[in-house]
Amino acid sequence: MPLRFNTCPYCNQRIVFRIEEKDVNTSQYPAPIYIHHTSESCGKTSTFYVDSLLRVSYKELEKKPGAIKTLETIK
Ligand SMILES: [Zn+2]
Repeated sequence: MPLRFNTCPYCNQRIVFRIEEKDVNTSQYPAPIYIHHTSESCGKTSTFYVDSLLRVSYKELEKKPGAIKTLETIK
């Protein structure tokens, strides 16, 4: 289960989450996934797009259509 280190597009804090291939729709890449930043000071959900190796390509503030799962960040 790959760990991913990135930053939240809302608050720019460092975030960590685990992602697996079953978490995304593998029929399209980059594949969207919702990331819920489980910080009391943030709590926002944004959309991250990952490539076929589940590496983050880019991210959007809003919840864009197409994601099949919401991942919680790890504290
Ligand atoms: Zn945040």
